[in-house]
Amino acid sequence: MNLVILKKGREKNLLQRHPWIFSGAIERVAGDPNSGETVTVCSFDRKPLAQAAWSPQSQIAARVWSFDPSTVIDAGFFRTKLQNAIAARCHLTDKEFLCGAGDSPAKCWQTRASAPPSNAKHFNSNALRLVAAESDGLPGLIIDRYADWLVCQFLSAGSEHWKETITGILQELFPGLSIYERSDVSVREKEGLPSRCGVLAGTEPPERVEISENGMRLLVDIKGGHKTGYYLDQRDSRAAVRNWASGRDVLNCFSYTGGFGVAALLGGATHVTQMDSSGPALEIAKQNAELNGLDPTASEYIDGDVFKELRSFRDSRRDFDLIILDPPKFIESRSQLEGGARGYKDINLLAFKLLRPGGLLFTFSCSGLMEMPLFQKIVSDAALDAGRSAQILAVLNQSPDHPVALNFPEGAYLKGLLCRAE
Ligand code: SAH
Repeated sequence: MNLVILKKGREKNLLQRHPWIFSGAIERVAGDPNSGETVTVCSFDRKPLAQAAWSPQSQIAARVWSFDPSTVIDAGFFRTKLQNAIAARCHLTDKEFLCGAGDSPAKCWQTRASAPPSNAKHFNSNALRLVAAESDGLPGLIIDRYADWLVCQFLSAGSEHWKETITGILQELFPGLSIYERSDVSVREKEGLPSRCGVLAGTEPPERVEISENGMRLLVDIKGGHKTGYYLDQRDSRAAVRNWASGRDVLNCFSYTGGFGVAALLGGATHVTQMDSSGPALEIAKQNAELNGLDPTASEYIDGDVFKELRSFRDSRRDFDLIILDPPKFIESRSQLEGGARGYKDINLLAFKLLRPGGLLFTFSCSGLMEMPLFQKIVSDAALDAGRSAQILAVLNQSPDHPVALNFPEGAYLKGLLCRAE
C-alpha cells in the first residue's frame, strides 16, 4: 500500500475536507506510487485520513478522491460518483435528456431515495456540464454534454490514470453518445501530462455541433473551440441579457461565438456589435445569428482588440445602451493580480464612458483569484473615474451546472455585476 504521510499538524485542511494536498505538507511517501495511482493519506501519527490520487510532478501533490480512508477507489467508486453528479443536475433540465430514457442504467435518480427530481426546469438546454471536477468530488475531471457528444478534460494525473475506466462508465450511462477528449490545456503540463485531443468512444465530431440553449440555436466547435467548445458557465447571464435587452443598442465585448449578442437580439435589442480578437469565433457568431433567423443588418462584427477598439469608440463618441464585458482570465497566479486588476479597471472605465444615460453594463471576471469584493471595488473605481454614478441591479454567478462545493471555495471563479449608469 502506498502511504503519504503528512507533516505534523498539516492535516488541518484535510480535516476541513479541502481536496488538495500540497507537496510542502508532506513529510514522506512510503511505497513507490506511480503518477495518478491511489495513495492513502495519513497524519504524522499514521492515522489514515483519505484516499487520494498521486501527482508527483505537481505542487498539488495529491488530490482527494474520498475523505473516508476505507473507500476502495475502483470502477464502482467512479460509477457512483458520476451517477451522483448527474443526479445532482436532474432538477436543472429535462431529466430524460440528462439521465437517458428507457432502461438505461443512467436512470440514476431512481437509485436515490431522496430528492426526487421536480418538474421545474432551471433552464432548457441540451448542453450542460455534467461533472465539474473538484466541485463534484472528482478532482481534475470535466465532462460537458453537447447534444449527442460528451466532451471530457482530464486535468490531473489522477483523472488521467482512470481515463479508460471513466470512458467505459460513460458509455454505459449514455449509450449511443460519442465521447471526445479535449485535454489540450496548459494545466496538464504542471501534472507532467502531454496535451491530447481525440475520440475516446464513438465517432469523430463534425466541424459544428448544434445545441439549443433556452430557445437559442448555437453552433459549437467541439474539436477546435475554446475549453470544451463553449462557455456553458454563462448560460444564466445570457438569459439575463436577453431579459434586459429590449430596444437597446448593444456592444458585446469578448463575444467569442456571439452567444450574448444573439440572446440580446432575440430579446429585442435593436442592434448588436460583436467584438472579439478571434476571427474563427466571429465566423461562428455570424453563423449563429443566421441560424436564429436574425436580421443580418442588426449585427455588426469587429475583429479587434477590445482595449484598442473601446478607445477608438470613445474618441469617435460612439455610445451604447447595453455593454457586455466578458474577458478571458486575466489572472492565472497571485503575481498577476495587480496587472489583471488594471486590465479590468481599464475596460470597465472605457465601458462606463460609452454608456448612454440609463445604460446597462454586464461586467464579468472569470479569474478565481479576483474575489467579488475586489471586483466590485474595481468596477466602482472605474465608474468614479469615468465620472458616472451607477447602481448594481444584480449580482451574477456561474450557472448552477457549475456548482461550488462548500469545502472547495476555489470552485467559485465566475462573478459578474449588472450595473445601471445614471
Ligand atoms: N462571452 C463569451 C465568452 C468569452 S471568452 C460567451 O458567452 O460565449 C473570452 C473571449 O475573449 C475569447 O473569445 C477570446 O478570443 C477573446 N479575447 C481575448 N482577448 C481579447 C482582446 N484583447 N480583445 C478582443 N477579444 C479578446
